[in-house]
Amino acid sequence: MTNTNGFSDSQESALLGEEEYKELEKELDFIPAFWTQNVSETKVEEKYDVILTEYLEEEKQMGDDEQYFQPETSIPVKEEFPGRHNFQVSLANQDSSKHWVYSQTLKKVFINMEETLPLRFKWEPPIDGFLLRTAMVFSLDQYASDPVRRCHNHMAPNNSSNRDIDPRVIKHVIRCTDHMSMYEERNEHLSIVTPLHTPQPGSQYVPVGFKFLCKNSCPSGMNRRPTELIFTLEDRKRKVLGRRRLPVRVCSCPKRDKKKEEAEIVDAQPDLKKRKLCMSVGKKMMPSCDTHVFSVQLNIVGKENYLAVLKYAYDIMAGQASRTGQFEFFKPYMDDILRKTP
Ligand SMILES: [Zn+2]
Repeated sequence: MTNTNGFSDSQESALLGEEEYKELEKELDFIPAFWTQNVSETKVEEKYDVILTEYLEEEKQMGDDEQYFQPETSIPVKEEFPGRHNFQVSLANQDSSKHWVYSQTLKKVFINMEETLPLRFKWEPPIDGFLLRTAMVFSLDQYASDPVRRCHNHMAPNNSSNRDIDPRVIKHVIRCTDHMSMYEERNEHLSIVTPLHTPQPGSQYVPVGFKFLCKNSCPSGMNRRPTELIFTLEDRKRKVLGRRRLPVRVCSCPKRDKKKEEAEIVDAQPDLKKRKLCMSVGKKMMPSCDTHVFSVQLNIVGKENYLAVLKYAYDIMAGQASRTGQFEFFKPYMDDILRKTP
């Protein structure tokens, strides 16, 4: 079975029966664990007992060296692997709300700030005691070592999102809806550790929700840089058993931004005809292909105004790069603006 969002959901219905599960999913975009408590309870418990015994046997035989270990590094590791527990993440079915949308083309989520992204985590056997680590990282290699943190504006103590919040949590862009989550910092990189429990009987996954407390466009924070979530399944010794990634953009108009980024992918494809038009010197030359570089020295009153000018300059160049396909030409000038942005 495959979700409408395209994430693999192959064993979702193994215990419930395809039809029953579909019915439940239709009723609720997200099935709370207690709903499924009486369904096939005996069958599930028996199955878990067998699985658990097998697992413990296997653990006994397996030396520590054979497990994956999370090295202390300042550059987050992103390689996906299901590991021997077949670690999987999927999205709950898209509801009618417009707060988040998944792009099949980009394999990316677009979501509003402060809205919950409902995710489902699955591992085999579904035993108790593992940990889920969630970290937000920059997608581009050039920013990989930069920690993702909230912007000054949203971190301000008088911001409503920070009221009665532990100071250690405030700098995190993501917050987990599970109150048992711990907020950690390693080499300045932030992550959330959520204890994973056995899925409720009848369910094969554990639902975990995340909220985002800054937008990707926030100056002084993510500053227009693309980001993604890295999920790792870890044991109690913090050994990494599996890893998954999910690109995410936090923005004001998820649908609009999805469309825009999907169109940019098309524009980025080698399009010789368009390039020819841009390069040719003649009557047909597009006005957007003016490649003269102007240096501007301005004195602007007010930090917000200064940031707005930088943002506008960045946006118009990004738009032109997208329309003309000349990303390579515009990139150093756009990067220069990012460097100048405090
Ligand atoms: Zn912000």
